[in-house]
Amino acid sequence: MIVKTYCARMDHGGCGLLVHFEGGKITRIEGDPDSPLSHGYLCPKGLAQLERINHPDRLQYPMKRLGNRGEGRWTRISWEEALDTISEKVRETIARDGQKAIVLGQGTPKGLELFLMLRLANLLHIPNVSTPGHICHMPRETASNLTCGFFPVPDFDHPPASIVVWGSNLFQTNEEGLIGIQLRRALDRGS
Ligand code: SF4
Repeated sequence: MIVKTYCARMDHGGCGLLVHFEGGKITRIEGDPDSPLSHGYLCPKGLAQLERINHPDRLQYPMKRLGNRGEGRWTRISWEEALDTISEKVRETIARDGQKAIVLGQGTPKGLELFLMLRLANLLHIPNVSTPGHICHMPRETASNLTCGFFPVPDFDHPPASIVVWGSNLFQTNEEGLIGIQLRRALDRGS
């Protein structure tokens, strides 16, 4: 079985994927030539996904620390125990110090996780949510809105005569849906 999906775990990306399954397991990942963004391209990070998914060191279940922080001793616990432990600590902290004593923080959000975290903060009336977006994406979006009136996305696929890349290392970072290969293709086509 082959499932069409997209890569968004290593950057904001969006490269189209063809994921091959056999017996419920992923056996191969390749670029989707029909993807309007990536046209079959996958960068080394995308190609390494199968290795990452099956890596023996990949964390796949909750672990609880034994002993003191830094000792490096852990034991596997059930999801029920993990969730009960976390909710008990959150309840205790709110009862003792109030909602402002808790900060929900996340690395660069991909997919829908951020919205789940925001919903949780909203339900618990926790006012503190932090992501790198507050110093990265949001100033960019605000500046774009103030300058252009909207958040423009470059159209590399109808290659522009000239491209200004300012404060961005697109070939390395594939920032936010702008895959470096799109810029490469535009340059190859004469931009
Ligand atoms: S450029 Fe980004 S979205 Fe595309 S394969 Fe690489 S990591 Fe995935």
